[in-house]
Amino acid sequence: MIFMYDVMSKKAEDFINDEEIQQTLEYAQKNKSNRELIEKLIERAEDCKGLSHREAAVLLDCDQPDSNEKMFALARRIKEKFYGNRIVMFAPLYLSNYCVNGCTYCPYHAKNKNICRKKLTQEDIKREVIALQDMGHKRLALETGEDPVNNPIEYVLESINTIYSIKHKNGAIRRVNVNIAATTVENYRKLKEAGIGTYILFQETYNKKAYEELHPTGPKHNYAYHTEAMDRAMEGGIDDVGCGVLFGLNLYRYDFVGLLMHAEHLEAAMGVGPHTISVPRIRSAEDINPEDFTNAIDDDTFAKIVAVLRIAVPYTGMIISTRESKKTRERVLELGISQISGGSKTSVGGYADEGEPEDEHSAQFDVEDSRTLDEVVNWLLSLGYIPSFCTACYREGRTGDRFMSLVKAGQIANCCLPNALMTLKEYLEDYASEDTVKKGEKIIAEQINNITNDKVREIAKQHLFDLEGGQRDFRF
Ligand code: SF4
Ligand code: SF4
Repeated sequence: MIFMYDVMSKKAEDFINDEEIQQTLEYAQKNKSNRELIEKLIERAEDCKGLSHREAAVLLDCDQPDSNEKMFALARRIKEKFYGNRIVMFAPLYLSNYCVNGCTYCPYHAKNKNICRKKLTQEDIKREVIALQDMGHKRLALETGEDPVNNPIEYVLESINTIYSIKHKNGAIRRVNVNIAATTVENYRKLKEAGIGTYILFQETYNKKAYEELHPTGPKHNYAYHTEAMDRAMEGGIDDVGCGVLFGLNLYRYDFVGLLMHAEHLEAAMGVGPHTISVPRIRSAEDINPEDFTNAIDDDTFAKIVAVLRIAVPYTGMIISTRESKKTRERVLELGISQISGGSKTSVGGYADEGEPEDEHSAQFDVEDSRTLDEVVNWLLSLGYIPSFCTACYREGRTGDRFMSLVKAGQIANCCLPNALMTLKEYLEDYASEDTVKKGEKIIAEQINNITNDKVREIAKQHLFDLEGGQRDFRF
């Protein structure tokens, strides 16, 4: 069978066409020292309209130190233009580690008999959510293994309902993003009706052969079904989807190109590109040794991937988890990351068991940044960032192409800044330590005057005052 590269096709092997990727990689290698082309691309990307996968691949391979410096500077400028100094906070919530798949890099794989299998009951979920609310979280990413018997769609839907229903003290989970296995259009429709924010699914690797080897058994083995999942999600009415690869599984250059081709496909064929891109790197876990994966990438390469992604897809939020150390997170925050997790537990039931060490036998991966949410918020404030607990867009119906057109027009910042300040204020009122309050109040006082629209600024000031008086949940 011959596959042709076709960005509009609904077939995985057409829109993620291996031949196109191979040619792109050759083109990038051939031009890695082509200063004229590289300078031209950097100059053109200054208009914040992004780059094609071929153009971005050239920048990723560029071996000219001064051009690389220019690239990093451009990534910083784009980050500043679209996201300012705001960083959105979230936490993962693991519902169940029952899984029928055989992913060789994940301890939840079906053949792992050493792991303690757990599935949260609705009562357990309440306890987890209360613990998360008491930390100050408002936005969750729901995670669960694939298991039609233990974790059917009905279980996921019921759990989402439970999560949204819990209001403990001033706490509330206002946005539930969902990271579950590739499923049917009908199930995606049900998730949409349940009020999810973003549907997240990592491709792991775009290389079909490597993909099939890494997923030897279970439904996830089906490359096409997995790769076409975002199209089905969008058909089911979910217009915010989150893509990502697990860097280290396969050659990073291949997956970088595949990721951008996937984004181009969604934009061309479905009318809107991915809402977010995640950039996880492989980590050690029970039964998993990252040294077995020979494609691991170093910190410099990782930083360059983040910077070139920022340049190539300026409108797409970028997420980094607690897989990465404080040092790495600090480095990539300025290069393009707009969302980070904090105080995360990567095991099932990890939040409610406060004070106890995380159960090593059910964690999906080792957490490198194990600070509490307050420590992460405090650290961000010390670095001059505004930690934001905003969830407004999805709740105001600003999703999909409506959201993207506001971002592209540069108008979304008019909402993001006041929302960041108001949700930070809520956090300071309800959950923060004394030192975090001091730093947070200072940044709010400084930043409130950066709201350019006079009317919005005055309303935001009033809301900040009302928050002190006990009212909650204001948004633009
Ligand atoms: Fe299951 Fe997901 Fe782990 Fe694969 S990565 S074994 S699908 S939980
Ligand atoms: Fe995100 Fe929208 Fe809030 Fe901005 S206003 S931080 S884009 S949810």
